[in-house]
Amino acid sequence: MRRIACLAAVTVIGVTLAAASYEAQSDRHPIRPLELTDNLYVLTSDPAEQGMRTGGNTAVFLTVDGVVLVDTKIKGYGADILAQVRQITDMPVTTIINTHTHWDHSGSNPEFPDTVNIVTHENTAANMASTDCDDGAGFEGGSIKNCEQFQGDNARFLPDTTYSTQHTLFSGADRIDLYYFGRGHTDGDTFVVFKDARTVHTGDMMARKGLPFIDAANSNGSATEFGATLQGAADGIPDVDTVITGHADDPHVWQDLVDYAGFYNDLLMQAHEGRAAGRSAAEIIAGYKLPDRYADFAAPAGRLQQIVPLLLEGR
Ligand SMILES: [Zn+2]
Repeated sequence: MRRIACLAAVTVIGVTLAAASYEAQSDRHPIRPLELTDNLYVLTSDPAEQGMRTGGNTAVFLTVDGVVLVDTKIKGYGADILAQVRQITDMPVTTIINTHTHWDHSGSNPEFPDTVNIVTHENTAANMASTDCDDGAGFEGGSIKNCEQFQGDNARFLPDTTYSTQHTLFSGADRIDLYYFGRGHTDGDTFVVFKDARTVHTGDMMARKGLPFIDAANSNGSATEFGATLQGAADGIPDVDTVITGHADDPHVWQDLVDYAGFYNDLLMQAHEGRAAGRSAAEIIAGYKLPDRYADFAAPAGRLQQIVPLLLEGR
């Protein structure tokens, strides 16, 4: 009985999704579901593949009234996300929280019904509503203007609920706390805390155990403030054990987020010391030393070359 109802729901919504969807993604990547608790799941990508794959990690949270998604991956993956949800529950998707504006985290928002309550930080809502956006050159062959999919008739898929510093959704076992600690990866990054599960989704404030991409050019992110924002989260979010990152394939633990703040702020300190000693950005990058205690964090040259000049310019 349950199986029949489930298949019917998939068919009806599948037709809607196909019509609403943009052209099918030519390059499909599988979604890998992980069960964290009996009402919290995360949809990652196949660890055997490299690169962006399905986009950012999507959390699936079951409440008494419906399903909450955190982030919706790349445009065209709405049907794939919904198919995974249908493996877990027949309940409708009622809420989407986007950790930030980027194409790989809010790309398939318009593939869900426009009755879904979309929740973001107020700056992310403004970024999505912008008529001039660019999610950063160099991602898979060029710039991607994700805000364009929220224009015209699609403005109905812009956020319905926004907040400025802290916001709570639902209560009891369903409680979700949203936190904003300042600029970093963008100027509207939300930390999403599933209270009962003692789990946080960090979005790209911790994409993985490595130096971040700072979207200073288009979404008002800040390399200079990234460390303080991360430290704000480490100090200000209580009672979390498990960390869903923006892009890592497996969940991390709270100490990893604490260490991530330390790792980033150590780079900030090395850049400031280098500047005080009169060294150039190139010299600071060449002289960068990864502290032993952060040996499991990656500091690739390309990221240092983006971040260090921003730090020296106070951006
Ligand atoms: Zn991002």
